Amino acid sequence: MINQNRKETFLADYYSAQIINVFRKSFRFISSPSFLLNKGWIFISDKSGNVLAFEKVGAPEFEIKPFYPIQEMDEHSQNDMTSKVMYLPILGDTWFPGFIGMVLPLSVDEKQVSAFLQGFVNVFCLMQEQSIAKEIAYCIRAVNQDLHLDSVMQTIVHRITLNLTLSDCIAVVFDEEQSVMLPRWSSSEQKLLQWQTKILNNPKKIYENIVARFSAKRRVLHNDNANLEELLGSENTFSERWLIAPFRYNGKIIGFLLLMRDTEHPFTTQEQKFVCRFTKDLSLAVHNSTVYMRTQRDEQKQAMLFEITKKFHSSINVDNVLQAVIENTRKLYPDMSVDLWLSHDSFSTTLPVKQFSYSIDGNSVSAQAFMEARTVIIPSDGERSLTLAAPLRGKQGVYGVLELYSDKPISLPSREVEYITMLADTAGNAFENAQLYEQSNRLIKELLLIDEMTRQLNKNIKLHDLLEFIMRKLTESFRTEHCCIFSWSDEKNAFMMRASTQKEIKEFALPVPTAGKLYDLFVRKESILLADGADAEIGVPSFSYKSLMAVPLLEKEEVNGAIMLLDSKPHRYTFDDFKRLEMLARHVKVAVTNASLHAEVERMVVTDNLTGLYNRKYLYDSIRQSQKRDVCGSLILIDVDHFKNVNDTYGHHIGDEILVQVANELTVSIRTSDIAARWGGEEMAVYLPKVQSDIAQQVAERLRLNVMRKTHPTVTISSGIATWTKEDGILSVEQLFQRADEALYQAKRAGRNQVRMAEFA
Ligand code: GH3
Ligand code: MG
Ligand code: MG
Repeated sequence: MINQNRKETFLADYYSAQIINVFRKSFRFISSPSFLLNKGWIFISDKSGNVLAFEKVGAPEFEIKPFYPIQEMDEHSQNDMTSKVMYLPILGDTWFPGFIGMVLPLSVDEKQVSAFLQGFVNVFCLMQEQSIAKEIAYCIRAVNQDLHLDSVMQTIVHRITLNLTLSDCIAVVFDEEQSVMLPRWSSSEQKLLQWQTKILNNPKKIYENIVARFSAKRRVLHNDNANLEELLGSENTFSERWLIAPFRYNGKIIGFLLLMRDTEHPFTTQEQKFVCRFTKDLSLAVHNSTVYMRTQRDEQKQAMLFEITKKFHSSINVDNVLQAVIENTRKLYPDMSVDLWLSHDSFSTTLPVKQFSYSIDGNSVSAQAFMEARTVIIPSDGERSLTLAAPLRGKQGVYGVLELYSDKPISLPSREVEYITMLADTAGNAFENAQLYEQSNRLIKELLLIDEMTRQLNKNIKLHDLLEFIMRKLTESFRTEHCCIFSWSDEKNAFMMRASTQKEIKEFALPVPTAGKLYDLFVRKESILLADGADAEIGVPSFSYKSLMAVPLLEKEEVNGAIMLLDSKPHRYTFDDFKRLEMLARHVKVAVTNASLHAEVERMVVTDNLTGLYNRKYLYDSIRQSQKRDVCGSLILIDVDHFKNVNDTYGHHIGDEILVQVANELTVSIRTSDIAARWGGEEMAVYLPKVQSDIAQQVAERLRLNVMRKTHPTVTISSGIATWTKEDGILSVEQLFQRADEALYQAKRAGRNQVRMAEFA
């Protein structure tokens, strides 16, 4: 019938000191009734009859028992031999469903006792009401002193746990988007994590369920009117007694308290009423601190953004801005992990960032954010319960991705998402600024390089020296290990390595490639960029590399050569480097073309300025060609006699004129196939292809006579002749000259104005 065991646990656990307190206060409030004759007990019991507390009135002649079997009647009395018990249920707006009772001498008037008990119950109810009001007032005072949502919720959880014996208490507050803020408030720390990870992991759904269940009439949800598993969408099963009471603001649910207690002790209606009033009266405080927290957070975010923007504007250093972005993100989102991914083309940085590669992370959230240049959120992905990836956007491109993730159930309201997107964009802009800065720096360097190249060109430097210069400058400018320049050689029928940082392979000749990357470069006119290549791919000896850039040098649509940059480190060159090399190659090409033209022009100038005769080099080349082609030929070497005297007598100007006269005489006196050249000074030469010595002698004689007759003032010439024939074996041009010179010397020695044949060796 009555479980005696229940007494201890019940007393200790649920009707805490609070009830007893109210009972004692009520007792002190009411003066001792005279009808007792100072001989009795007054007690409070639970509804089963377990005595929770008692007070002695005077000196009763009997003991009070720990338990009186209570009959289900409003008013009752029991007798034994020496005393009788009378009791009255505590009704009314109280959350304690027990009895106030008295143990009395047999002689006492029951009507009087009954009236007294009624008064006592009324006072008890008032006192309890007052104590609840006081408790709630205390809570409101406490929370009003501190607007922080965390401490407000902790106070609430703490106070409710003090008033009702609970096994657990969870407070949840929704934000304006109905995504749960983490339930950071629980009576037990250990259970908190479990709640966060396992149970409250679908905030939106929970919100919807709870709103649907709380009709206007229903004030609390508990075991008897709802299913907790369903409500929370949880796989856990709850064996406990539970109760949910909402916090409302403006009729809208803004959060709730979830109270848990072991299965044997359901929440009484009075307790339910208490919880209702508690949450109702504290709703405003919860709302205020939510707003306060949001404002605070907004302020914090503003401050951080300001700090980052300040950094962004005050320094060109990307690292500073990135550092600030990472640090602030970690501060603002302590429950999330933060990663920064940068694309290969972004600047090197000293921060612990991850290198981003499209191929490897092709299907990751970050890759998606990068490619689509927008913030991407994935609610759950493997281990992670939430991943957010915000691209670092600038005006001209995306430079990387800021990734936030968590393994705890976290919801990010759109306000937060917008903020993170903004942070990432700031970082992106910083990148772009730095890049523009670098770019202008580089542009200046490039202009300097081009300017220097042009100046070197104007110095008439030889093609070889120019290429060496370009090679050095490119190596410097790209800070690369190796550089080499190829140009086409008609003679060798190959691309020759004209300049190289590897001195020992300078003479490398590359025949026109027929396949592979070099085919692309030299035949298909395509530039090459290798990030992680193998030596064999290019096959240029002595160069070991991983990174390679090569650009063809085009001349009138034909590949005339190529520039190659090589480095042993992989991913050494950025795409920007590649574009820059292509741009520079156009200038290199112009410089090289000009330098080659210059050599060509030099070669093409074959005539002497003053006399219009061919120059010595042309004469040499002509003799060489004749020697290949003809069977014989003769060289007449001519020197004006006593020309010094002419100059001394008439002056240099007239001297020059006479030289021109002599030259003209030579020209008109020979055939067009013959070659008259100025040997230097007042010495001239005539080469007669296919002419033997006897004819040569006649020609020389004719020249001598014509000069003597036609020049004015008159000068004479002396000549020496040397002849070669295939029969006698070809003489070198130098030998031919030497012999003719000797013969000339003989002519001078013999008295000038005469012709002499070279003697056969
Ligand atoms: P020789 O009969 O021994 O040849 O007597 P020479 O005076 O001609 O002696 P030499 O060949 O040593 O001197 C050549 C002179 O010709 C020296 C120089 O003043 C003069 N000469 C050389 N080139 C030019 C030139 O382009 N114009 C003029 N006006 N004079 C020249
Ligand atoms: Mg001379
Ligand atoms: Mg002379």
